[in-house]
Amino acid sequence: MIIGYILWGPDNGSEMFSDLDTLTEAKKCSDCGFRVDYRETNNLFRIKRKVYDFSFTYDSIAISSLKFKEFCNRNNYGNIRFMELERSSGFYQFILQNSTIPFTAREVADLCGSCGQHEIVVGPHVDLGQLETPLEDGFYQSNILYGGRGRLHDRPLTPVIVVAPDTKEKIQKVGFKNMVFEAIVKKNDLTTTPIAH
Ligand SMILES: [Zn+2]
Repeated sequence: MIIGYILWGPDNGSEMFSDLDTLTEAKKCSDCGFRVDYRETNNLFRIKRKVYDFSFTYDSIAISSLKFKEFCNRNNYGNIRFMELERSSGFYQFILQNSTIPFTAREVADLCGSCGQHEIVVGPHVDLGQLETPLEDGFYQSNILYGGRGRLHDRPLTPVIVVAPDTKEKIQKVGFKNMVFEAIVKKNDLTTTPIAH
């Protein structure tokens, strides 16, 4: 049984906040030096590749086109904040509110005592134990934030975005391109013994 799909998108060749940009700076932890809030919007942000309706910046920020925003509005997906991007007309920062589902991470390391965030949270995996049926039409997000930081791009930790099976169908029916859906599968075989870790 497919519970839902993790939603991935292409990179749009842009950065919400760039270290090279001296005019705007993201809020950072004074101790570890990493960004503390992925929801922060850079009013000077310009999207470089405008061909995608749903994409990610190099620093892992989800960006929606007007067409995708209108699709979400038409379907009454009310848990999404579309932050207007002043210098990128027709594009919005896509921020989910609430609607979290349980996730685990393959590796969690390097906790910062000041901001309470880990430097490394990688290998997102849905905790299927609490999910018995396919998700209801709509968008969801992981209950933990992911990222491996301190690399080429200064990224904040961000949630993994999940859609319901019905939502995936609707997205594909409209014909939005370049969106990648990774199935979240729950096996129904009750005789299977859980694997001990
Ligand atoms: Zn910190």
